[in-house]
Amino acid sequence: MAFSFITSDAFRQLFQSMSEGIIMVEESGKISIANPVAENMFGYRTDEMVGMSIEDLLPERYRGNHISFRQGFNAHPEPRKMGIGRDLTALRKDGTEIPVEISLSYTRVDGRLFIMAFISDISLRKKAEDALKRSEEQLIVYAAELEHKVKARTEALNASIAKLETEVIERKKAEEEARKSLERERELNELKSKFVSIASHEFRTPLSTVMSSASLIQQYKDKNDLEKVDKHIQRIKSSVEHLTSILNDLLSLGKLEEGKIDIQLENIHAHSFLSEISEEMTSLKDGQKLKINCPDDLNILTDARILRNILFNLISNASKYSDQHKSIFIDCSLKDERVHFAVRDEGIGIPHEDQKFLFDRFFRASNAVNIQGTGLGLNIVKRYVDLLKGTITFSSEYEKGSTFTVSIPQQ
Ligand code: ADP
Repeated sequence: MAFSFITSDAFRQLFQSMSEGIIMVEESGKISIANPVAENMFGYRTDEMVGMSIEDLLPERYRGNHISFRQGFNAHPEPRKMGIGRDLTALRKDGTEIPVEISLSYTRVDGRLFIMAFISDISLRKKAEDALKRSEEQLIVYAAELEHKVKARTEALNASIAKLETEVIERKKAEEEARKSLERERELNELKSKFVSIASHEFRTPLSTVMSSASLIQQYKDKNDLEKVDKHIQRIKSSVEHLTSILNDLLSLGKLEEGKIDIQLENIHAHSFLSEISEEMTSLKDGQKLKINCPDDLNILTDARILRNILFNLISNASKYSDQHKSIFIDCSLKDERVHFAVRDEGIGIPHEDQKFLFDRFFRASNAVNIQGTGLGLNIVKRYVDLLKGTITFSSEYEKGSTFTVSIPQQ
């Protein structure tokens, strides 16, 4: 027998019991022997494979290449793995194909080359690998789908959040507007009720003065006491002036509230302007004098009507809150392109704790309650000053006097 070495019992036992399929091939490619595992793997009966060509165990499409591969191996045989980096496929007797892994070795018997192929059926492993690959691919698809869904949901969520935010902002705006209009309505109501109380309180004194002076004039006229008649005519005049000034304040306030005041700029010669105001101040107390200190070359481009109202109000207050025979000082000056008017008196002053409320509508200081007034004048003055893009400040010392300073742009 040509391969007497395989007849030895030890080798046969080893050969038969190997867990891999083993096929031994001659140089020509003819199968010399195959172990049971190999026969089983390829679906052949015992000894059926002997004499077959090794290419018979390959799918048709690989056979041509395999012959030249085999010849190459025969020329330089060395133990190695077959098909590194690619899948090997074998053909079973029933025509089905199986994935395999093959290691090659060789031996020489009596100078003849025998090639040994150690074959493992890796169907199961391949299936598992394929399944794994499929799961991985599936996983990638799932991940992509998930990412897509998450993206879509995030976008939808962001859109809802943005919508919600807009709604919240709009609702807040609407609430704010409602609150403001309520506030305006409340202020208007407050104004109306204050007006009623001012009208009934502030109008009563001058009106009763007018009434009593009128009847007294009648009596003094009969007695021909002209001096007393004059005195009461004066009283009537100042009561009417007082009533007019209250009505003017209320009118100004109404116009300011409605935003109905337009600015009309005109050129004013400061000194002449102050002198005119001084002449118009007929309600000064006995012996009160206005002392004007103003450079003769000072001209201003501003709204004369508004500036007159401002100064008139401040000078009236200086007079009202000072005793008879006290002077009132009006200084005007130019600094940094702004004109400063300071109205100073030596009157009752403003208690320190009241000073911060001075420009609030209807506010009256605690030492002014017995002096007629509405608490509207300074509020109006402040708003007029704002219209002229100016500022108003004051300093005051209780029982010593006060200075109110208005600064407006020269142009
Ligand atoms: P009114 O004089 O009608 O009360 P104003 O708004 O003009 O209202 O003034 C508010 C308050 O500021 C006054 O009630 C008074 O307490 C105080 N005040 C204003 N000017 C002077 C001043 N020159 N001296 C003292 N107190 C003043």
